[in-house]
Amino acid sequence: MAYKVLLNEDEIPRQWYNLAADLPHPPLPPLGPDGNPIGPEALAPVFPMNLIEQEVSSERWIDIPQEILEILYRWRPSPLHRAVHLEKALGTPAKIYYKNESVSPAGSHKPNTAVPQAWYNKQFGIKKLTTETGAGQWGSALSFACSLLGLECKVFMVRISFDQKPFRKVMMETWGGTCIASPSTETQAGRDVLAQFPDTPGSLGIAISEAIEAAVTDATGQTRYSLGSVLNHVMLHQTIIGLEAKKQLEKAGEKKVDVVIACAGGGSNFAGLAFPFVNDKIHGADIEIIPVEPASCPTMTKAPYAYDHGDLARMTPLLAMHTLGHAFIPPPIHAGGLRYHGMAPLVSRAIVEGLVRPESIQQLECYEAAITFARTEGIIVAPETSHAVASAIRAARQAKEEGKEKVILFGLSGHGLMDLLGYQKYLAGQLTNHELSTADMAKSLNAIKDFPKIPA
Ligand SMILES: *Cc1c(COP(=O)(O)O)cnc(C)c1O
Repeated sequence: MAYKVLLNEDEIPRQWYNLAADLPHPPLPPLGPDGNPIGPEALAPVFPMNLIEQEVSSERWIDIPQEILEILYRWRPSPLHRAVHLEKALGTPAKIYYKNESVSPAGSHKPNTAVPQAWYNKQFGIKKLTTETGAGQWGSALSFACSLLGLECKVFMVRISFDQKPFRKVMMETWGGTCIASPSTETQAGRDVLAQFPDTPGSLGIAISEAIEAAVTDATGQTRYSLGSVLNHVMLHQTIIGLEAKKQLEKAGEKKVDVVIACAGGGSNFAGLAFPFVNDKIHGADIEIIPVEPASCPTMTKAPYAYDHGDLARMTPLLAMHTLGHAFIPPPIHAGGLRYHGMAPLVSRAIVEGLVRPESIQQLECYEAAITFARTEGIIVAPETSHAVASAIRAARQAKEEGKEKVILFGLSGHGLMDLLGYQKYLAGQLTNHELSTADMAKSLNAIKDFPKIPA
């Protein structure tokens, strides 16, 4: 029996998988301010054209340039572990596997797209990238990638995380990036929010507005914006996770996987692990595929599938996605990376098509699961990842009740060594559950009531 399954470097996938090619219905196009679909050129001030081509591509397989692979070899292929000790503690007949993305230099899956994004921008002649970050994982990942490729990197970090996770900023600075708290006084979008709400904890929606503004107003024309999740090309880059995992499960002798689980904030680590399995499901495989979110930010399980902006200042096109409304300010739970108001259009589409079944879990169950995992398997997972752990434990308990030897695969999206404040509060009994009320959701959805509707 394998405790962990490794791949050699020459076994790394050489192409990314694009789910858009296989969805039963094509993804809905983004809309411009006039309500009409936008063309690729509308995105050109924000992203380089080579990434825009990937964003709108309907090719099933897209080659990974050799130079990108050579950077990824620093930590890829990542290990697939069997959670033998967790299985024993739960007394489950299920086999639990986890794909460990915490081994990247930044500590999460995010460098899988930070590296290609920096690389394609450099190819296009760009000198500087701006971005937002929630918990700080994405800002660290992009700073890391920019340092390897000789690009400047400027990160707008959501205020609450900036205060809760000061060492993330030090990581970004160590890799040569700069990091400021958002909302900031450096942009019009930031100044507008501060004038109205001087004590705001910030949100990803605000930070995205600031980062886009900083990119498009740079007079040199050599700055672009980079997004760590949500967009199609980000989902694409992350599929290397699931493609590796499939090879590893095969090596472990598994002919079939029954349940695939990953947490979902903007949707990228979920998409990365799950989309290659969604492809199998489209072609007849019987797999339960579960994206997991916090009950306090129930984008997939409660919010409507609707057109909305990706940011507060409404600078992005309208995207067809599950959304809580672009003005949604999430409660300050510790899973900072799962507090986004929207969900990737490709993940949203997979939900609407019934290909994946989202779940929401409360904060305390997630931390309890994370503690169980740390005391069995040893890894202290990110608060975001704890949602996947909690769901995997639920699935393993269900397998025990049913007496079935199911194969469960979950995504260990990152480690939590920069997020110990949440653990400290949990261990001291200071954390509580929080569920978004229907009234609060209705209030935040007011912001999108006059937007174009998705045709039924
Ligand atoms: C950012 C992050 C997430 C959530 O983002 P997705 O785009 O949904 O993957 C999950 N886990 C970790 C460790 C993260 O850093």
